[in-house]
Amino acid sequence: MQNAKYQLKCLECGKTITDKYTNICPDGHDSLLRTAYKTKRLRKLSGKGMFNYIDWLPVEEALPINASPITYKSEGFGKELGLKNLYIGFSGYWPEKGVFMKTCTFKELEALPTCQRAKEKCGKILVVPSAGNTSRAFAEVASMTGMPVVVIVPKSSIHRMWTTTELEKHDTIFLISVDGDYSDSIALSKEIVKKEALIEEGGVKNVARRDGMGIVELEAAFFMHAVPDYYFQAVGSGTGAIAAWETFIRLINDGRFGVKMPRIVISQNLPFAPMFSAWQEGRAEIIADKDMNDAAEAIKQMYADVLSTRNPPYSIKGGVYDMLVSTEGVMHGISNEECREAEKLFETEEGIDLDPAASVACASLIKAVDEGLVKKEDRILLNITGGGYKRLNNDYKRYQIAERIEIKSSGQLTLEDVEIELNEFVQGL
Ligand SMILES: *Cc1c(COP(=O)(O)O)cnc(C)c1O
Ligand SMILES: [Zn+2]
Repeated sequence: MQNAKYQLKCLECGKTITDKYTNICPDGHDSLLRTAYKTKRLRKLSGKGMFNYIDWLPVEEALPINASPITYKSEGFGKELGLKNLYIGFSGYWPEKGVFMKTCTFKELEALPTCQRAKEKCGKILVVPSAGNTSRAFAEVASMTGMPVVVIVPKSSIHRMWTTTELEKHDTIFLISVDGDYSDSIALSKEIVKKEALIEEGGVKNVARRDGMGIVELEAAFFMHAVPDYYFQAVGSGTGAIAAWETFIRLINDGRFGVKMPRIVISQNLPFAPMFSAWQEGRAEIIADKDMNDAAEAIKQMYADVLSTRNPPYSIKGGVYDMLVSTEGVMHGISNEECREAEKLFETEEGIDLDPAASVACASLIKAVDEGLVKKEDRILLNITGGGYKRLNNDYKRYQIAERIEIKSSGQLTLEDVEIELNEFVQGL
């Protein structure tokens, strides 16, 4: 397949793999696969939203949407922090700035190319477990495009499951709620993907998700005419930060955006911060007893509970640990109090409301200034991964997605019951 637009590459064995919605090395290595695109010098098209950068997305065709993040140079927040070159990468809804992502987070950048990749490469129905934002993004894409999806969320996140598309467009969404948290959603997903017509979406291992999120850095690099000196992001899994690292590697190889790898500064929301805890001790492994003590209780206390990933891709080859080592990365643990203060300052200065997770990144930037990590002249890219919910409410109605099945921990409902409902869904499409 010399003419293929891209191949996948295992970072452990170096094997080149033709994509059949392949998310793991055929030899079973504990490594991420990475896309190797034929085009080294990226073209920016116009009028195709995020698909303006289709050269570096693992799909053949663009979806007809206008979703794309934007980059702009901060005035107010930068000034307050004494930073002269603060650039904001914004994913969310903010029409005054020209950004129209109606799910309000960068998960939409993952969902769009992932659905398209699944359609092109395997034709199966994606199963997506999440703590809320990911499932909502996939549900919105499903209702927009008519591509079916099975989404699984904790009962406590069910209020986050809405779209801006009318109820009659919800036919392609099969929503399951589970009693428990994110890890319980994942456990159920593992069971139901055994069905022939369904396929596991893949999470961090899915290259479409990572390259989709990388659009934030591409958009920023074209705006700034360079890669930044520092990149800031709040992480739960760290998928977005791995994506940023991979994208910076491609941009440096492109040749037009500078030669120096940005330092990546990631942040987690205390008290649930397993990667922060492991990294503080210089460990490449997360030890559950040390880093995730009393996880359920800690997660309940978080201001930004979308960041509550219990099993992040920290140690896997090409994962968060490798990213931190290779970019001279830094990690911050951020308290709820620090989040709230940062959020208030950002919202006042920039004039848009934030997803709680984005507040974590803002607080991390404030900490970096206080610590003297970043200097006045440094070129900084702050990834505002979500925002504009309040702004969206002025323009759009929210349509709550009805759950098709509720799994209770008491377990009266068996997998066969789920199976029957799912069969009806698949046949009804
Ligand atoms: C999911 C999410 C994050 C964290 O992304 P990871 O890829 O898990 O690190 C940050 N901000 C928002 C708004 C999110 O929805
Ligand atoms: Zn391999």
